[in-house]
Amino acid sequence: MNLRKYCFFYKIFLILLGTACVFAAHLIAEEPLRCNTCKKLIPSDREYIVSQNKCYCSRECFVQSLPVCTICGKRSFTGGIYALDHSFFACPECMKKPRCFACQIPADGQKLPDGRVLCPGCTRTAVVDPVRAQSIFNEVRDEMRFSLGIGTNHPIFFSLATPEMLHKLSGTRSNFINEQGLFKYEAEVERVSTRDFLGRKTGETLYKKGETSRIYVLDYLPKLHMQYVIAHELAHDWMTAHYPGIRDPAVKEGFAEYIAWRYNNFHKRSSLNRRIETNPDPVYGEGFRRIRRIAERDGFEGLKRYLEFKSKQNQK
Ligand SMILES: [Zn+2]
Ligand SMILES: [Zn+2]
Ligand SMILES: [Zn+2]
Ligand SMILES: [Zn+2]
Repeated sequence: MNLRKYCFFYKIFLILLGTACVFAAHLIAEEPLRCNTCKKLIPSDREYIVSQNKCYCSRECFVQSLPVCTICGKRSFTGGIYALDHSFFACPECMKKPRCFACQIPADGQKLPDGRVLCPGCTRTAVVDPVRAQSIFNEVRDEMRFSLGIGTNHPIFFSLATPEMLHKLSGTRSNFINEQGLFKYEAEVERVSTRDFLGRKTGETLYKKGETSRIYVLDYLPKLHMQYVIAHELAHDWMTAHYPGIRDPAVKEGFAEYIAWRYNNFHKRSSLNRRIETNPDPVYGEGFRRIRRIAERDGFEGLKRYLEFKSKQNQK
């Protein structure tokens, strides 16, 4: 359940040019009309364009009202698609392009050996060097500890991973999921019993030994993106250390997404948060919104009480 997944649903934007009718204004000129683009009054003896219940004084003004494709920069006459988080608008031609694996925007990007496509924008800060990745990890861990109060002291093994590695490590069979990071915790539990002088058992204590915490993050992610994936995985580490045993995936992933969201807010990167906020996924998106509601209503202390309750619930 430590997967990050994003669903990209789109709002389809259609311009039916057939309905952009040209009227002879003098037939219906009762009230003065205003051009929706230039806001000038349309003289009653002039023809104008109506599209989607809006009036335009000229073809130029109508064209200016059409959305600009984020990818090719041209205005689209034939509709297109808005990403749900409004990170892009793509014309039908550009929608055919392969999507950047990191930002999901269709692009003429570079093709990585494993088949992923990376757009020019994401390529600029993509992290592939393990040493650089480790220093980014250390930096995020410090920021989490000192600025967000989410810190643990045990060693955490950190490594970049290819999609194939990440998929194997996470042990899922789904092909729908877009995995970007993984937190793995393992511990051996040893039962030690105490006995009295006759050798009778008087009690039993569970000792955890050989605890290991590992975080893997997908390689080639752009730096800012990698940072919040790390923040998400560190939130799992913190929760495991303080509130073990929570099984509800919406609480686990919702909390991790909430911490990643706070991390982005701390850096004033609200554009990165739109995807978290609008994610329609029932675990990640709904979980995030549930956790945020609790935090906004009861504060972080209240959220901790909720986690405490969830953790105890499963230990019975
Ligand atoms: Zn997660
Ligand atoms: Zn106009
Ligand atoms: Zn385009
Ligand atoms: Zn990209």
